[in-house]
Amino acid sequence: MDVVVTTTKVKPPVSADETNRLDVIAVGAHPDDVEIACGGSLAKLVRQGYRVGIIDLTDGEPTPNSPGPDVRLAEAQAAAEALGVQVRVNLDLPNRRLFDTFEHRVALAKQFRIWRPKIVIGFGAKTPMASPDHFQTMQITDAAVFYSRLTKWDEHFDGLPVHAVSRQLYFRLAIEPDLIPGEASHITVDIAATLDAKIASVMCYQTQFGNKPYMIDRVRAAAMVSGYAAGVSAGEVFVASRPFAVDDLVKTVM
Ligand SMILES: [Zn+2]
Repeated sequence: MDVVVTTTKVKPPVSADETNRLDVIAVGAHPDDVEIACGGSLAKLVRQGYRVGIIDLTDGEPTPNSPGPDVRLAEAQAAAEALGVQVRVNLDLPNRRLFDTFEHRVALAKQFRIWRPKIVIGFGAKTPMASPDHFQTMQITDAAVFYSRLTKWDEHFDGLPVHAVSRQLYFRLAIEPDLIPGEASHITVDIAATLDAKIASVMCYQTQFGNKPYMIDRVRAAAMVSGYAAGVSAGEVFVASRPFAVDDLVKTVM
């Protein structure tokens, strides 16, 4: 399936209807964040028949070994195709100086109102020694999930209809397989069948990892540690932002 990476320099589409709305949206600060954090789970969701989108808040540029934004955007498109996701949007917010502002919250909330996801997945922790954009993205995502459902505020959202996101999940960049500190309800998704798709999507970013092949090994090793801890050969770990109940305990845990 061809996925076209759009930027919000282009006029956004009108709000999705029941036929083209997304079931899940994963939000990253930079192209490659989502692939590292939860690429295997997104590929699996697509194979299970769900409609999945990725929203990158920035183009991730400049970075030391990239010729420029066009190359990075092409990498993002190739990675989206490797995972099979239906939609990828780049909000074109400022890389390296991304902040949790009202305007940035609204920009992301508009996307939730357009695509109407049931589940939003995004950063759930700080990333010390890495880009501070990640933690800002967590705060922007938290706010945008809230803003998306607020009534009597249409003037900020181009008249887009309100949308209540049903569930928000947190991830960490899965380079180390750590859990998120202070969070109790971790969920491991079995990505044994889609680990190769995840690795393929990360390898699309030659500007980021072409001279650091060990990073691919780290991503694979982290998935294996997370998976084997839960009895499968590869996994990705998520945290529910709030406790949730399950209907069938046997189907859920078996
Ligand atoms: Zn990043």
